[in-house]
Amino acid sequence: MNKKVYIGLGSNLGNKSKNIQNALDFIADIEGVNINKLSSLYLTAPWGRTDQDHFINQVIEIETDLSALKLLYHLQDIEIKLGRQRDGKWGPRIIDLDVLLYGEEIINLEELKVPHPYLLERLFVLIPLAEINSEIQFPDGSKIREVLSRARALKEGNDIIKL
Ligand code: ADP
Ligand code: MG
Repeated sequence: MNKKVYIGLGSNLGNKSKNIQNALDFIADIEGVNINKLSSLYLTAPWGRTDQDHFINQVIEIETDLSALKLLYHLQDIEIKLGRQRDGKWGPRIIDLDVLLYGEEIINLEELKVPHPYLLERLFVLIPLAEINSEIQFPDGSKIREVLSRARALKEGNDIIKL
């Protein structure tokens, strides 16, 4: 269990909090993964495409000895098991599981970009990230607090409520 990894969970279709809980149960069952910490649940206005229902979002910290790609494939299996259909970019989804940070590594593969490309702008992941670990450092050396205050300054229509 050598890498500390942060995963973002989101749902905006069906029983959202149940979808998140089901995903957590599946993640807990992945061999080589330990869940360390869970953030609160957050209610978030839709982003990208605003003509859809609000999201419930959560961030978790895990420890794993899986490679980043193996972890991504497990997460994609779980998305499919929970019935996620590919419904266009940023469309409604039963469950969305994103690898936010994988230790302090930078990964630039076609199917896996870490830190997650939109991480720095999305308050609904930055706020729960800072909640579970206010000392997180990004691969470029920046600190979660700085990143969060920068994102707050740019915030436009990015409403988020802690549940
Ligand atoms: P988003 O999560 O950006 O709203 P999707 O979940 O629909 O969009 O995007 C899925 C695609 O994003 C997958 O095909 C996956 O290979 C790719 N991807 C790239 N980087 C990551 C990452 N860090 N975590 C999860 N998926 C990623
Ligand atoms: Mg995703």
